[in-house]
Amino acid sequence: MPTSTPASGRCPRRANRAAAALMAALVATLWWSVSHAAPISTAMETDEAIGEHLQFLQEQGIRLHVAEVAQAYAQGKFTPARRSVLNFGIGAPPTWIALEVTNPGKIGVLRRLAVENSWIDRIDFFVLRGRLAQEAFHTGDARPFAERPVDSRYFWFNHVFPPGTTTVLMRVETPDPMVLPVYFTTVEAAQARATNQETSYGLLYGYLFALLAYNFILFLGLKARRYLFYSVYLLCFSIMNFTYTGHSYQWLWPASPHWQQWSNPLLMMVYAISGLMFAVSFLETRRLLPRLHRIVMAGMATFVVLQAGAVLLESRVAALLFSFGFVFLFSATMVALGALAYRAGQRSARYFLIASVTAVVGASVTAAAVWGLIPFTPWTYRAVDLGMAVDATLLALALADQFRIGQEERLRAEQLAHVDPLTGINNRRAFATLVAPIWSTGQRHQRDMSVMLLDIDRFKAVNDTHGHAVGDKALMQLADLLRQRMRSGDVVARWGGEEFIVFLPETTLAVARLIAERLRTEIAAMQIEGAGAQFSLTATFGVAHNDDSKATLENLISVADRHLYQGKELGRNRVYPG
Ligand code: GH3
Ligand code: MG
Ligand code: MG
Repeated sequence: MPTSTPASGRCPRRANRAAAALMAALVATLWWSVSHAAPISTAMETDEAIGEHLQFLQEQGIRLHVAEVAQAYAQGKFTPARRSVLNFGIGAPPTWIALEVTNPGKIGVLRRLAVENSWIDRIDFFVLRGRLAQEAFHTGDARPFAERPVDSRYFWFNHVFPPGTTTVLMRVETPDPMVLPVYFTTVEAAQARATNQETSYGLLYGYLFALLAYNFILFLGLKARRYLFYSVYLLCFSIMNFTYTGHSYQWLWPASPHWQQWSNPLLMMVYAISGLMFAVSFLETRRLLPRLHRIVMAGMATFVVLQAGAVLLESRVAALLFSFGFVFLFSATMVALGALAYRAGQRSARYFLIASVTAVVGASVTAAAVWGLIPFTPWTYRAVDLGMAVDATLLALALADQFRIGQEERLRAEQLAHVDPLTGINNRRAFATLVAPIWSTGQRHQRDMSVMLLDIDRFKAVNDTHGHAVGDKALMQLADLLRQRMRSGDVVARWGGEEFIVFLPETTLAVARLIAERLRTEIAAMQIEGAGAQFSLTATFGVAHNDDSKATLENLISVADRHLYQGKELGRNRVYPG
């Protein structure tokens, strides 16, 4: 009975203590989860980058030994990454990454740790036992490719994680963008990922290669330099892409780590220059935008000189900054050139503009992801590939469009060369081309052929009375009449000022004179709208038949001309011989 009081008095105290303990545990968990990254379990299957499980520590100018780093890690001096892909940008100091792996099972489990980036100079993996490195793997593209623990363009290492907890430390050193997409998977899952990636690269390179090869063949056939520049541009993009994805080091120059170090910044620059050369050639900027053309050329030369300086001083950080800077400027310039050339009247520049905007969006997304400005995901990282595939397609269309425009212009020029601009009927040159074959076959088979030449009477007076414009209208009206009245097979042309000619195949002199006579009447009946009043015209005809001329078409025409003159002499408005 008396025990109830203390009990009832203790009860709230105990509850308070429990609440306080709970609070403390909560705070501790919270603090721990803020200051620590959760270990990754071998029981967990994930296809995502595991940045959230990583912690890092950057060296402060002095190279740290693995034992010192292990101690620093144990003392909680690492910082949790808290994002799926770590990114320290260009020229970052050497950085240590820690990962804790738990194996809840009873036997060791084989796992692959993969850093899906191909341009890190040096990566050293250490598997810790206590504070000692129990196992170490050294890789990175500053070492010959053959020294890699696993044959891959990425940095991979396999390890059997024993039951319990294992700590992995990684030392990463590179002046290149230090972006670290780290994956922790089974070996099979890693291979499946790799197969998917290689398939998509295979498709991309295959597509780009088909386009560049085809356009190179077009260059060989058409001898137009823009096809060559297009092919070179795609080739440079492909080589650059093949290189920064690590394929080149694996397949092309595995024994040249020194060149591998410089390949990315230098190939980026070559790519941008090839793009500008294509733009300048395609958009005809030298002719259309001469000032801008000079600025672009000077800018390009400046960057080449700067880059040469970086190479001479062996500063890769400078080379990388120049390359990234140049590629950003290049992208902006492509869009600006496209827009300005379009405004300056380059019709196929609109395809170029859309293509460049697509490529620029793709490249900017990738560059921003690699630089660490936006999240690094497979999509943001591969945006440039997608953009480039669309860019290459649209540029091929742009080239085709330019070809079509050129074709149309040539066709129009050809037509103009054969058509009389005022009346739209054949000119003298077209007459000669059209009649020559008919004449020679006709002569060979001794066919009747006639020609008539007609000249408007006192046309000068028409011009003087009604004005030149009305004179023009009269000529057009007369040409229309001729066009309508002539049989198919007859060839009508404007022979000179107010003179017209008609070639009549399979036509005797008698029939030719009949036709001329009918035409003469029709012309005389034709009403023309003059200034104020309607008026009419007459014309005189000279007709000739191939009996009159044994030799050539020229002779036949000069006979018709003589007859025309005689018709004029006899008082005009008549057919001679009538
Ligand atoms: P004739 O009966 O002797 O042929 O007299 P005509 O005045 O017609 O002869 P002439 O050859 O002396 O003058 C031809 C005129 O045709 C002179 C020229 O101004 C005019 N003419 C030539 N080509 C054109 C043209 O394209 N448009 C116009 N409106 N007039 C033209
Ligand atoms: Mg005349
Ligand atoms: Mg005349």
